Amino acid sequence: MQTYSFQPTVEYARQLDQEDVLAHYRNEFYIKPDSIYMDGNSLGLLSKRAEKSLLEVLADWKELGIDGWMEGKHPWFFLPETLAKLSAPLVGASAEEVIVTGSTTVNLHQLVASFYKPEGKRTKILADELTFPSDIYALQSQLRLHGFNPETHLIRVKSRDGRLLEEEDLIAAMTEEIALIILPTVLYRSGQILDMKRLTDEAHARGILIGFDGCHSVGAIPHAFSEWDVDFAFWCNYKHLNGGPGSVGSLYVNRKHFGTLPGLAGWFGSKKDKQFDMEHLLIPADTAGAFQIGTPHILSLAPLIGSFEMFQEAGIERIREKSLQSTQYLMDLIDFELEDYGFIIGNPREEKRRGGHVSLEHKEAARICKALKEYGVVPDYRAPNIIRLAPIALYNTYEEVWKVVQILKNIMAEKLYEQYSNERNVVA
Ligand SMILES: *Cc1c(COP(=O)(O)O)cnc(C)c1O
Repeated sequence: MQTYSFQPTVEYARQLDQEDVLAHYRNEFYIKPDSIYMDGNSLGLLSKRAEKSLLEVLADWKELGIDGWMEGKHPWFFLPETLAKLSAPLVGASAEEVIVTGSTTVNLHQLVASFYKPEGKRTKILADELTFPSDIYALQSQLRLHGFNPETHLIRVKSRDGRLLEEEDLIAAMTEEIALIILPTVLYRSGQILDMKRLTDEAHARGILIGFDGCHSVGAIPHAFSEWDVDFAFWCNYKHLNGGPGSVGSLYVNRKHFGTLPGLAGWFGSKKDKQFDMEHLLIPADTAGAFQIGTPHILSLAPLIGSFEMFQEAGIERIREKSLQSTQYLMDLIDFELEDYGFIIGNPREEKRRGGHVSLEHKEAARICKALKEYGVVPDYRAPNIIRLAPIALYNTYEEVWKVVQILKNIMAEKLYEQYSNERNVVA
């Protein structure tokens, strides 16, 4: 690839597309011809491979009935482990340290139930005030289950500017009262990447366990969970990983914690060869598989087979490279074309701290998003004032990025957003 050197012309966008080594993957997705999809960080698009693997699993059900568990093309009984093996490289883990199971929120409950062990003065959980609400609800309810008051026992580190978190502030809050830390890998609004290695080192130096919510990073940026010695992590597979609405999530448990009893136990956490002994004594798997609960949701796992294969083939390093260049290009175009219209770029600009989306702030964001949709762009709105735009490496083009900014400029110049109310829709 030539070195990137910004030019505002559509010819430059086309040149970037020609040099794009991942460009051919776009043909593998269902892309609507008159629509530019910039929302792959909320719900990834369907690929033909994901559709194919789902249809294969359905066909096995049709043909084999219960024998699909062992004899299907993708034997259902081992599917969570098979998918863990395919996706472990995305987080820098060995296959045994990952399992594809549950949902983000359920997996968070499972991991807190397993690794939050309040003792003596160490009884509090550390999180941050910008975290995704579901994580906070889960932590509050886990504290209540232990008889603690979430008001006093859930510490939420403050952001200095409402957008970003400073690692120094997080570290300063790691006191002797903290038993467990849960933080995002990438903040869902501003797209900031936290320095996971540094935070893990600092937590461990104070005898605290740390886990990460990887929803906004897995599939967009590389991770080295095992090398960084992260204790555990959890994420969903329907955003950057294109697994489909409500597809099964994933969790990571560092191998040093193998043997920890699952806080929420169920028979699918058994050692595989013991499960059907039907004994009342659980013999947990000696891998992250121990943290599974019940029967896997096979039809919501199936699209991941095709999707994970694509990630394995494309390689997360190349995906990150294109994602960084696309978001840089988007920011450069915004700086160049939209400076008169009151936008603020709220994500960090440095590559080390920038995730997979651009976070564009504007006081009219809700209705600008409605206008964008009307004019053929699917953005993502986060109340009260954020337009998130995610150019996805496997299916968005540079020319689409260029067009989005032109459409946005037209909406602002002609005040087209004024025809809409500045309120969010039910699903935003
Ligand atoms: C999307 C997302 C979730 C969603 O959790 P589900 O259990 O899949 O509904 C949780 N946390 C973060 C940070 C997210 O981005």
